[in-house]
Amino acid sequence: MTLNIPFDNSYVRLPDSFYARQGPVPVRAPQLIAFNNSLAQILRVTPGDVHEMTEAFAGNKVPEGAEPIAQLYSGHQFGNYNPQLGDGRAVLLGETVGTDGIRRDIQLKGSGPTPFSRQGDGRAWLGPVLREYVVSEAMHALGIPTTRALAAVETGETVRREGPMPGAVLTRVAQSHLRVGTFQVFAARGQLDSLRRLTDYAIDRHYPGAEGPMGLLRAVVAAQARLIAGWMNVGFIHGVMNTDNSSIAGETIDYGPCAFMDRYHPNTVFSSIDRAGRYAYSNQPDIAVWNAAQLATSLIQQAEDKDAAVEEATEIVHAMPDLLQTEWQARFRAKIGLTTKEDGDQQLISDLLTRMAQNQADFTNTFRALGDSAARDQFTDPQAFDQWAEGWQARLAREEDPSAVMAKANPAFIPRNHRIEQMIQSAVQGDYTPFHRLNTVLARPFEDQLDALDLTRPPTEGEVVHATFCG
Ligand code: AMP
Ligand code: MG
Ligand code: MG
Repeated sequence: MTLNIPFDNSYVRLPDSFYARQGPVPVRAPQLIAFNNSLAQILRVTPGDVHEMTEAFAGNKVPEGAEPIAQLYSGHQFGNYNPQLGDGRAVLLGETVGTDGIRRDIQLKGSGPTPFSRQGDGRAWLGPVLREYVVSEAMHALGIPTTRALAAVETGETVRREGPMPGAVLTRVAQSHLRVGTFQVFAARGQLDSLRRLTDYAIDRHYPGAEGPMGLLRAVVAAQARLIAGWMNVGFIHGVMNTDNSSIAGETIDYGPCAFMDRYHPNTVFSSIDRAGRYAYSNQPDIAVWNAAQLATSLIQQAEDKDAAVEEATEIVHAMPDLLQTEWQARFRAKIGLTTKEDGDQQLISDLLTRMAQNQADFTNTFRALGDSAARDQFTDPQAFDQWAEGWQARLAREEDPSAVMAKANPAFIPRNHRIEQMIQSAVQGDYTPFHRLNTVLARPFEDQLDALDLTRPPTEGEVVHATFCG
């Protein structure tokens, strides 16, 4: 078999101010780490022999039909507008239309410098590449919209971070790499023709029923609300929700300092650069609204009737907190086994979360154990749980099959931070067993896998990961 990617590229047909033509920069001694066969099938990619795939996914040989570009965008980083960002260490090879009819980008990340790199080396080291591979695939298995991982390659070169680290390239797949920041760059520059082209393109590609810029805004707001509720549901903390990392398609994108919570606390932050806790777990819904407001501000620029657009955009953004709350509640009600709606439900959920925070309860294990009465063991004071459970049991009496509902809402397996770190350390030493095992187990997060119970265990004191980095 020979590697075949049936490219059908659309972004490169847009005006050339939208991107820079840029190929991947070859690396010295690439080695294929992983190739995602089931994703390849969806993309209609025919795998080739190992040598061929290594060359392609390292960026040493551009596959036939690819038209590599680095995309332009800007964005707010930690609330401050940066007028020009863009792909500084990635190139978009092109797009395919999958067996499901969905168009997707195939991008090499860590593929060398581009005109948008500024100071960076354009590279990635092995740790973040493996982290993104494992976590993005785990998110997909958890049912959360996300970019995915098609391949990972070691480059055989060293990149400088805290010290010399092995380099790697990730092949990332996304419904698109359109970000809030892609709209911001044209709006901020007053390039209204480009802004209109981009708006039409985004509607066409992602929300074909949407009408005009405000229709697009409405669709993105709904998709982002679903996405963030999905994160909250599994204790995921993105870590760097800058507007350039906020996807128009509503996917989780840019797995830098992301992490899953072990012990539940609403203020949890892992990212070493998020000193003020802007992107803390419980702030994520508010930040999604803030990002939607930036998208609204950009989209409004192209309106013929500005006053009307401002009014409509304001209405859409102001409605987002309620939308988030509705999405959040739907998921958290399922987590405690509720399918019907009653007035006290929100209070019941909040009360549990408060008690969990006060009692250092593990987020994932507490919810998973609700179905089998072991949940109280997760609390430093088990009576705090018992008191809550009285009211809960009374409420459950009016539900049909709460155990089945909870089993589908509460995963047993998440990519715990300490396991990710251990996996990376093994890989740096050349042992990829933990990497492959994590991928296998995390592909079925809602199944009790008795041979993988060690992966449900929270970190010991010595294993706790206190900070994560951008890579
Ligand atoms: P991020 O924080 O990952 O969203 O990245 C923010 C910006 O920095 C993007 O424009 C990236 O392309 C760029 N960037 C991140 N790491 C590097 C790197 N090693 N070399 C060049 N550009 C980078
Ligand atoms: Mg980014
Ligand atoms: Mg990043």
